[in-house]
Amino acid sequence: MQPTFEGPVRVRVAILGCTGSIGMQALDVCRQHSDKLEVVALSAHSRTKELVAAAREFDVHAACVTDETHAQDPVLGELPSDCELLVGPDGAPALAQRDDVDVVLVAIVGAAGLAASHAVLKSGKRLALANKESLVVGGDLLMPLAAPGQLLPVDSEHGAIYQCLMGENPREAHCIWLTCSGGPFYGRSISELAQVTRHDALAHPTWNMGAKITIDSATLMNKGLERIEAMHLFGMGLDRIKVLIQRESKIHSMVEFVDGSVIAHLGASDMRIPIQYAFSYPERWGTPAPRVDFRTIGQLTFGAPDMEAFRCLKLAEAAGEAGGTLPCVLNAANEIAVDAFLRDELSFTGIAEVVEACMDAHDRSDVVSFEQLYDVDAWARAHASTLVAARG
Ligand code: NDP
Ligand code: MG
Repeated sequence: MQPTFEGPVRVRVAILGCTGSIGMQALDVCRQHSDKLEVVALSAHSRTKELVAAAREFDVHAACVTDETHAQDPVLGELPSDCELLVGPDGAPALAQRDDVDVVLVAIVGAAGLAASHAVLKSGKRLALANKESLVVGGDLLMPLAAPGQLLPVDSEHGAIYQCLMGENPREAHCIWLTCSGGPFYGRSISELAQVTRHDALAHPTWNMGAKITIDSATLMNKGLERIEAMHLFGMGLDRIKVLIQRESKIHSMVEFVDGSVIAHLGASDMRIPIQYAFSYPERWGTPAPRVDFRTIGQLTFGAPDMEAFRCLKLAEAAGEAGGTLPCVLNAANEIAVDAFLRDELSFTGIAEVVEACMDAHDRSDVVSFEQLYDVDAWARAHASTLVAARG
């Protein structure tokens, strides 16, 4: 009998939010490991030209434009002839549930990613999760749906912690040291922060990211959101998730164990590494990024964050401690405030003020359903928009 030869089975990937910073870097990982990864489905919100270019390059089976106002963009006529086109916000969760997909990277920005994350976990596929807002808003509902090894965090700190905990007894973890570059305004006082402009805030020292997370990294709201994300992912109270300023961004986080041992995850400041790991787990594949020569780094510096000047960190702590629907309000108000800041309609310190006012106006309740979260999210957005307009 003739031996039969089957080529290696490739992991079939869907990338939701493929036109963003994470999405583009994920496409690069897929390009570099085309023998192991097959891109089968892609979503974008507004950048249809980039979506079509990627759909053609990878010859995908399905594409989705979540922003309906871009549904008629002429460039969509250039999609591969056998590529199915979906339109509207429900299209992203629909892509996640396709039979020809094994792993879904949710790289959508904001709470808009929640429905897709939910759909992936429900379908039993692997969720490679960059969209931290999903967990901040819906962690209470998402985490019980995640089977062991099903949810792989892409956020670099959380990917690092995941690896530091591998093979360990989680009950023997004493605390997490969640590292933070400090952002472009590290060391500034609150009065200095009141003067910073959009241009200053968009210049992040280490990472090249989308606009929303870049502003979140400048206000340190990003780190506040990440503490809540870690709380859900690793089942630890916020008091055991400590923020550590690590200016060089070479230590991606650390876990300290009860015996005093500390395990750290180090490496290049390149998101393609945690993206790739979320695809390759439990294997490791060749690095997609230049390696670090630690002999050239010189020094690693550490510090504590200034919770008074960087008020968003404190607000996120309050939201995470209260739990329930309050993190949803924190997140939605922050999305509106950041958007207003990016349009020069709100000052830098105004972001925290709007978020705090929304949190104060909200009656927290336990999370019971996704519908409830969508309602709370809509209320907080409307309230934050009113506050922004009233200040203008
Ligand atoms: P970008 O702004 O660069 O990209 C966002 C992506 O989401 C784009 O593809 C965009 O489409 C799409 N999108 C925007 N709005 C919607 C919507 N309402 N519905 C569906 N899709 C939408 O963001 P990043 O890539 O920087 O970040 C993505 C996520 O990953 C965020 O949650 C962020 O916190 C997280 N993350 C990012 C890191 C980074 O280094 N960038 C690091 C760690 C986490 P289009 O461009 O076509 O309009
Ligand atoms: Mg991060």
